[in-house]
Amino acid sequence: MLRKKSEINLPGLEDILKGSLFKRYVKCGKRHCRCKEGELHGPYFYFSYIKDKKIYQIYIPKSKVKEVKRKLKNYDNLIRFFEEMNFLNVKKLKGGKNVKGKNSAKK
Ligand SMILES: [Zn+2]
Repeated sequence: MLRKKSEINLPGLEDILKGSLFKRYVKCGKRHCRCKEGELHGPYFYFSYIKDKKIYQIYIPKSKVKEVKRKLKNYDNLIRFFEEMNFLNVKKLKGGKNVKGKNSAKK
């Protein structure tokens, strides 16, 4: 069955992010700081993304981490939706028959 857009809660396009969120722990460089003994500062969050084949990173304040995570998940959901739609559209091309994958698992 074809699922409708509303049934899978598609995110708005202003509500997506493609990239990855990661944590970083740092040394501050102060002489007598606890981080000198290995107790690093952090975590600090960064978001990395690719544009024109280059990787960029931006700092994400803690208050925005949740939002970034949510938008990353939205992006994944959107991609999954497109893949599902693609599969359904291929099926239509084949006249409604199930499309069999190439049997590459032959031994
Ligand atoms: Zn320090």
